[in-house]
Amino acid sequence: MHSHQDPKPIGKCGGCPLNLKKSCGMFEHPAEQWAHGRCKGFMNAKMFEAFVAAQAREHEKTHKEIRREKQEERKSISHVDGIPNPGGSRW
Ligand code: SF4
Repeated sequence: MHSHQDPKPIGKCGGCPLNLKKSCGMFEHPAEQWAHGRCKGFMNAKMFEAFVAAQAREHEKTHKEIRREKQEERKSISHVDGIPNPGGSRW
């Protein structure tokens, strides 16, 4: 049984695109949204689009992504002595 403070979506959230299984993409407490009738985010295309747009804006590069980009850049630079960079592969 879910408490109203539980961040997990409830059974009624099934099929909703904002249902992220362990949390809701829009509301902190999904059970509260259903307490007084149908959740206003259920199958709401506009809210889903807003969620996707917010996700795209908020995405910050992780350390791993930054490191990969640097490595890709390094592979394309040739060495000062004219010998092409092996690109990370072993000699
Ligand atoms: S938007 Fe509403 S229906 Fe959809 S997952 Fe969140 S609480 Fe559930």
